[in-house]
Amino acid sequence: MTMQNNSFVAEASNLRVCYRVGRGRYFEAVRGMDLKVGRGEFFALLGPNGAGKTTCMLTMLGFIAPSAGEVRLLGNRPEPGAAVYEKVAYLPEEPLYPEFLTVREVMEYYASLYRARITAGRIGELLERLGLSNRSSFLVRECSKGMRQRLGIAACMLNSPDLYFFDELTRGLDPLMLRSLREVMKDLHRSGATIVMNSHMLSEVETLCTSAAIMNKGKVVRHDTLNNLVGRMEGRFMVETGDCPDFPEFAQVSARDNGRAVMEVAREHLTALLEFCDRQGLEFYGCRQKTRTLEDIVCDLVEDDR
Ligand code: ATP
Repeated sequence: MTMQNNSFVAEASNLRVCYRVGRGRYFEAVRGMDLKVGRGEFFALLGPNGAGKTTCMLTMLGFIAPSAGEVRLLGNRPEPGAAVYEKVAYLPEEPLYPEFLTVREVMEYYASLYRARITAGRIGELLERLGLSNRSSFLVRECSKGMRQRLGIAACMLNSPDLYFFDELTRGLDPLMLRSLREVMKDLHRSGATIVMNSHMLSEVETLCTSAAIMNKGKVVRHDTLNNLVGRMEGRFMVETGDCPDFPEFAQVSARDNGRAVMEVAREHLTALLEFCDRQGLEFYGCRQKTRTLEDIVCDLVEDDR
């Protein structure tokens, strides 16, 4: 079977997905969604609980049949047994492995599923890379959540896939584990792999991802690069001064504490605000350009789409 190549490694066009929720009753979890993930992107699928992120990911992987629309993985239709699966890895939110196998046996089992021969050396290398080499004889049931997560990532990496899907990879991990996983993810991305992840940990997404799609109610409400989504907001400033009961209307007070006030103002009102403070004898503590976090963007988009 030959594989198609193109610059988009994962695509959904006009995708609709329905779940059967009772006799003759259906719930449409994905409602006409278009998405294109370019080769080499570190892509995040974001949005509130129930937005349809996991459904979208499972449908793109070919595990759920869409009720309408089309998906492509590395340019191919994801059909059972398709060669494209040799180059795609997926780690679910809560991976389940047979409890009676050891960490190394889980790796050997997954290695045996590929057509390509995966050597014991490769397994050892990945266990080392994920900090599991001294745990390789632990039974799965003896592994902590973090160890299972690392085992899942090591298993995903066995055949050096071009495209990874991670569902809530960082959920429930301690800060040290998060830090080491972040480095593994950065290495994967640097090595040329494309990564698609679902996450609620927006600070992680800001650190790692190159682009994101924000979903709400089964649709993409914004899709852009991280650079365009977050960062400095042209023309908006945060000013901190001494507090007073009646600031001019153009200054929006966002916080008050300990005799200080923080206000958001537009560039054209900066001088007027400083003059006001001078007249009132208020202390001036500082001024910086307003920045927008991913959390601000996601919350605003979801609020607007209520
Ligand atoms: P979360 O952030 O909570 O993981 P999500 O964005 O991944 O949410 P999905 O799990 O894709 O959302 O669920 C989308 C919608 O589809 C939800 O309303 C959910 O209740 C519904 N849903 C998901 N799986 C099924 C199923 N097997 N049967 C019926 N409805 C389902």
